[in-house]
Amino acid sequence: MGANDTMSMFIENRSQRRKEFLANRNKIYMALPQLPSLVAEKYGIYISSLDEKFEEVAQNARIAEIDSRIAAILKAAGLDADAIQYKPACAICQDTGFVDGIACACLNRVGAEQAQKAAKVYGTQNFESFKLAIFSDIKEETERQSQRKEMALLQKKARKYAMEMPLSQGQNLLFIGKAGTGKTFLSNCIACEITKMGFFVSISSANDLTKVLIDKAFGRDEAGLSDVYYNCDLLVIDDLGFERDSALAEGELLDLINSRLAKKKNMIAITSMDLVTLKNSYSDSIFSRLAGEFDAWRFIGEDVRAEAAKKKKRS
Ligand SMILES: [Zn+2]
Repeated sequence: MGANDTMSMFIENRSQRRKEFLANRNKIYMALPQLPSLVAEKYGIYISSLDEKFEEVAQNARIAEIDSRIAAILKAAGLDADAIQYKPACAICQDTGFVDGIACACLNRVGAEQAQKAAKVYGTQNFESFKLAIFSDIKEETERQSQRKEMALLQKKARKYAMEMPLSQGQNLLFIGKAGTGKTFLSNCIACEITKMGFFVSISSANDLTKVLIDKAFGRDEAGLSDVYYNCDLLVIDDLGFERDSALAEGELLDLINSRLAKKKNMIAITSMDLVTLKNSYSDSIFSRLAGEFDAWRFIGEDVRAEAAKKKKRS
């Protein structure tokens, strides 16, 4: 189960409703074959009205005429006059989940159900199951303290960040450190905590995220996933720097980051690259946002999973 479950479930519910609607409408069209051509004529008028070739009054009269004929045909078949119109489950947001960039009550309802499942989704990736003991207590010469002590400090900061989420609008974090130093784990702890508070979190690898953004640019993001990236309360971008790079991907990513900065919506970016490599992986505009608008948290030490495996082998 992914951590992005609230939105997946919301999108799943919505596409299920649309699928049912389309199947039902097809049945009606088959049973009442006069309807599709009337509907097609109506859309034809709408489309040609875009070129303003038609007199508006004449158009409106013809549309009204078509509508009443459709209604009469449906009524004669014992159906509601709006039986072939899609009715969104939520009249407030039209099933988009957002109103002016703020999560709609219907999305929050799904979110609340999800919050109960948050424990399941994040498994043991939460503050309660945080085991500092897995981190090394040896202080390396180049570091000011041991990995364990650093982690204890970061854990405290992360808890504070999660607790202050309602007040910390627009506070962004950049987690930097080698693979297996606890970055994703700590970010999941934050995500789990604020999901329980009813906030809406989206977690995605930079690679998956840019793919969706490119789909959006080509009008192929039918599920509306890019809306989620733009509007969720906290966006976690994992594995930054490893996505397929192209000018288009960079432009879309920059637009997303700028939009969230402008709306003061929190982001956590995670990278296992060092700053220099990260700088070389991006344009100046993206790097300057990361360096200037994100609070960098450094995760020191070696991969705790690899270390644990080594120990196991030795014993
Ligand atoms: Zn709604």
